[in-house]
Amino acid sequence: MGLPNVGKSTLFNAITRAGAETANYPFCTIDPNVGVVQVPDERLVRLAELFHPGRVVPAVFEFVDIAGLVKGASHGEGLGNQFLSHIREVDAIVHVVRCFEDPDITHVAGRVSPVDDIETINVELNLADLETVERRIEKTRRLRKSGDKRYDWELALLERIQRLLEEGKGVRGQAWSEEESKFLSDLHLLTAKPVLYVANVHERDVATAWEHPMVQEVRRRARVEGAEVIPVSARLEAEIAELEGEDRDLFLAEAGLQESGLDRITRAAYKLLGLITYFTAGEKEVKAWTIVKGTKAPQAAGVIHSDFERGFIRAEVVSYEDLVRAGSTVAAREQGLLRLEGKDYVVQDGDVMHFRFNV
Ligand code: GDP
Repeated sequence: MGLPNVGKSTLFNAITRAGAETANYPFCTIDPNVGVVQVPDERLVRLAELFHPGRVVPAVFEFVDIAGLVKGASHGEGLGNQFLSHIREVDAIVHVVRCFEDPDITHVAGRVSPVDDIETINVELNLADLETVERRIEKTRRLRKSGDKRYDWELALLERIQRLLEEGKGVRGQAWSEEESKFLSDLHLLTAKPVLYVANVHERDVATAWEHPMVQEVRRRARVEGAEVIPVSARLEAEIAELEGEDRDLFLAEAGLQESGLDRITRAAYKLLGLITYFTAGEKEVKAWTIVKGTKAPQAAGVIHSDFERGFIRAEVVSYEDLVRAGSTVAAREQGLLRLEGKDYVVQDGDVMHFRFNV
């Protein structure tokens, strides 16, 4: 999301152009406002060299284009409420801010100031949350008449959130207990969502983007809430998305970039959400699967199929590093690097898993 004219559509076009072959991902949403991109992962390349599979399937990420957020959105201006409800459904927010000057491209506020833009949007999100919280407070006050002590606790928490929002502070980045976090997640507040700032710079500034005064401003602003900033040039990303293989590497090198902005955004979003990858690998297919850090083996298996979770017996596990060092599953087994793990095993990033289950 972001204000109008900051480069959202340009970036989103790059996302859909670079887009993954969605046929491999039956769970992905089919919607013109949703772009599916692959999560870049070098490990898949190495695993493919070991297994020579029929196909390699990377993990994917869905990006939703939330256009049209303007000042006054929380009052339903400019279809505002509809957009806010779209934001409610996402796991994390990529907030695009304009860090390029161009006299031909109007800025909604009349001048380019990324930090002011961030405030403008945050105010709308804050107001929308305030409305949610105030409605909930009314309800809780009614319910409290039943005498249930639970509602005293809820009311105190809601009033604390209300004060935070009134002070213009979001819910994100505050210290909450586990119980409070649980309650908060049920409220689906917009300012509770993890956020990543994308600073859209002019293509000529991309190689030295970190030195750009506006990018530095955004960085200082983001630091306050512990958020990350990724500088990109949306226009350049659109060009990169058209290229593949060597052409792409050459283009990136010429632009002074190591990897595309899109790859950096995807990687950062993955980290932001606390996601990790495990692999399944065989002759037919090498595939990356996404789980939340801390997921146990049966639930990790459930990502592949619910039957795998229900009938879970054991998992055969080898770490990516061990497997690559051994050179094959057979060699890894001979060297005792293959482990049998039960239902309490916490899956680690890079685990290569083989599940045994009852049907
Ligand atoms: P949106 O309203 O946020 O979706 O913004 P758009 O993607 O439509 O971009 C607004 C204008 O800014 C368009 O004319 C784009 O071509 C231009 N623009 C977007 N990104 C860049 C960029 O990286 N460099 C330059 N020079 N112009 C850009």
